[in-house]
Amino acid sequence: MAGKKNLERLKLYIDGGFVESEKGSTRDIYNPANGQVIALAQEATVEDTRKAIRAARKAFDQGPWHDYSAQRRGRVLFQVAEAIKREKEKLARLESANSGKPIVEAEFDVDDAATCFEYYGGLATKITGDVNPVPDQALSLTLKEPIGVCGQVIPWNYPLLMAAWKIAPALAAGCAVVLKPAPATPVTALELAKVFAAVEDLPKGVVNIVTGDGPVVGQELAESPLVNKVAFTGSTAVGRSILKAAAESNMKKVTLELGGKSPNIFFADADFEASIDGALFGVFINQGEVCSAGSRILVEKPIYKKFVEAMSEKAKRIVLGDPLDRKTKMGPLVTSTHRERVEGYIGAGRKEGARLVLGGKRPGGKLAGGYFLEPTIFDQVNNQMRIAREEIFGPVAAVIPFDGEKEAIELANDTPYGLAGAVWTRDIYRAFRIIKQVRAGILWVNHMQPTYVEAPWGGYKMSGIGRELGKYGIDNYLEVKQVHINLNEGPIAWY
Ligand code: NAD
Repeated sequence: MAGKKNLERLKLYIDGGFVESEKGSTRDIYNPANGQVIALAQEATVEDTRKAIRAARKAFDQGPWHDYSAQRRGRVLFQVAEAIKREKEKLARLESANSGKPIVEAEFDVDDAATCFEYYGGLATKITGDVNPVPDQALSLTLKEPIGVCGQVIPWNYPLLMAAWKIAPALAAGCAVVLKPAPATPVTALELAKVFAAVEDLPKGVVNIVTGDGPVVGQELAESPLVNKVAFTGSTAVGRSILKAAAESNMKKVTLELGGKSPNIFFADADFEASIDGALFGVFINQGEVCSAGSRILVEKPIYKKFVEAMSEKAKRIVLGDPLDRKTKMGPLVTSTHRERVEGYIGAGRKEGARLVLGGKRPGGKLAGGYFLEPTIFDQVNNQMRIAREEIFGPVAAVIPFDGEKEAIELANDTPYGLAGAVWTRDIYRAFRIIKQVRAGILWVNHMQPTYVEAPWGGYKMSGIGRELGKYGIDNYLEVKQVHINLNEGPIAWY
């Protein structure tokens, strides 16, 4: 392919430098809106990954980073935040071109990424220990220390924001990191690497970014005895393999942010128009490629028929189109393989007897060259069908009827997942009853999806282990050290 010569060759970011992988092999990076190759990314080997881990190890063990004062570390994070803001337009365009997300959403993501560095920059100076009230003549202290070298593995749906969620709290805590972006969407993480390279007070080796295959780079991060902690966001299946690898190597600490099949529950007394918007936004935002997507839409029987009709009518107004066009509400799916996977679920829904009310097809015309898929709505779904049980991670809504609160809760909890959920009602007492009984890590009332760096994020059941964001997010990167200082001079009573 002669055209490839002109493509940018993205590099690995290891020990403060931009380098090719040892074998020099690359992966084509696509624009999913038109199927064109936009860059070449390094396909790192196990040895490349080890090089990055050794750099992080050295930066952590020998470097000055974790001896920096908290203020100084915080200031480094503030500088990163400012640089992200300066680069907003470029980062948003790159994110949109590489992941297919609408430009307006990509801009939100860039803002959120900057806010994440600001928040954790501020939190760096709020890491405090305790004085424990022990009964003896002793001073018992609890100190918080950085956990060490962290392997961080992220998915493709929010490439820049997921990198920020991982790197910012780790740096605030004083850790060194090796981040692995998803193979299809490395562009903005590597742009972020340029920001790290330009921040003068960030020692080399503290941040490393290695692109490549999950079972190669990700697996090495999970297995390496030199890594103290792995933070993973992705599918439940890969989360399980990471947990196993961590257990079988050096018992490194693990946090997992995994999949979901979140219920979005609508009662007949809720504001109807807001509910329709909430149902659509909850499941179709970011093309449905959202871990907390409200993909099971539970609707109370008296309004079920009217609800499905109104939802389908309004969904026709969702503009599917070029992600760089500001009017676009839904872009393409991330890869052609992923679109095929989502289409497989549409087929399964039909086969199992759900009724396809809207969508299900690839749009033609100008969009035919990209990996687009229409917003798709099924009704007459029961909670045992595959489209109601398995995470589709695409624009497919399963609308399920229920009869009263008890059944709503039973259906909401009848899933192996427990990431998120929402309830729509004007009855505040009912809202509280529901949110107390739904087994999930994030519950919204009369909204779905707002996410803030100040508030914790993570799942119950098979949706994960641990919490990111907020004050919880920094604890993942801190060890707790208990110190006992004897205040009694003289011999110890035992002798
Ligand atoms: P994925 O699990 O296939 O991949 C995630 C990352 O893991 C990628 O970087 C991939 O290369 C890497 N990986 C793959 N195999 C690996 C292995 N054997 N060892 C180590 N790393 C490996 O997930 P995906 O398709 O990229 O992303 C979609 C999934 O992510 C969905 O299940 C979604 O729910 C989940 N997700 C969860 C959250 C959350 O906060 N809970 C947020 C976003 C996405």
